[in-house]
Amino acid sequence: MDQKNITSLTEAAAQTHYPPGWITKSIELKPSGKAPKKYGPYTYRFGASMTLSVILPRRGWTLVKKSRNYVYLTPPAGELTPPFYISIAVPSDDLCLEIARECYAQGESWLGQLGEWPAQYLHERNTDMLKISRDPVTGEMVSELLKNPPKSSLHIGEWGAWNADVTGIAGDFAIGIFPPSFIRTEQLPTPNLTEGTPREVLLTSYERNEDARRLCIEYYGAKCQACGLVYENKYGVIGKDLIHVHHVTPLADIGEAYQVDPIKDLIPLCASCHHVAHHRTPPYTVSELRAAIAASV
Ligand SMILES: [Zn+2]
Ligand SMILES: [Zn+2]
Repeated sequence: MDQKNITSLTEAAAQTHYPPGWITKSIELKPSGKAPKKYGPYTYRFGASMTLSVILPRRGWTLVKKSRNYVYLTPPAGELTPPFYISIAVPSDDLCLEIARECYAQGESWLGQLGEWPAQYLHERNTDMLKISRDPVTGEMVSELLKNPPKSSLHIGEWGAWNADVTGIAGDFAIGIFPPSFIRTEQLPTPNLTEGTPREVLLTSYERNEDARRLCIEYYGAKCQACGLVYENKYGVIGKDLIHVHHVTPLADIGEAYQVDPIKDLIPLCASCHHVAHHRTPPYTVSELRAAIAASV
């Protein structure tokens, strides 16, 4: 990964763990589970494998194993059981906004590191959506290009450890994954239980956006992306096209509503997998669900 030189964070400063203006924060690291016994009695499994495999060994942890989705680590002697806290420098919200504005002024996307965190800036990403629907009169499939302004975003950190997101349109940045100016409220019904949904699963308004749902299913197919279930294969014609659509982007930081990317933000799941996904906050990821299914057979 490149070290990115941002004008306010000089090259030397960007390489330190305490860039100017950053604040030291104590964050709790929550293991996503115990590691298999063969890794030893006090080895824990964490998400955020990219970040934690680097920062925890600097704090006395022992890296036992790293996979694509998980990292297995043993805490230092004397701190062998949760809760686990680490001290780490993070940028304030104001500083995140300032960095994003400078990146926007420089006009280039980049992938790099800020402080101890992986960081990425995406410049003026196209957010147009193709809306595909069936004309109720002719029955023909029709498509319409929904023009949206290009979106720039800065992401610092890794979900599961600590992260900050800033998004902006035309250099107007706000904290969060999508700024309020990007709302298309008329398309977003108020959150509530969807018909036919198990009562335990409260769908978000994003998951109930019909256009986004349809585009997501057109892309992935009406097939559960965790367990592979196709309702039609199991139930015949009465199961045709049935599938839930799950919102994979963490919602905690998002304001009221925003434009959904139907391929990046949504994923088809069967009712069972969707139920299990929402049994934790934040929801289990699709790879966690797949791993759980694989481990249970
Ligand atoms: Zn499933
Ligand atoms: Zn969901």
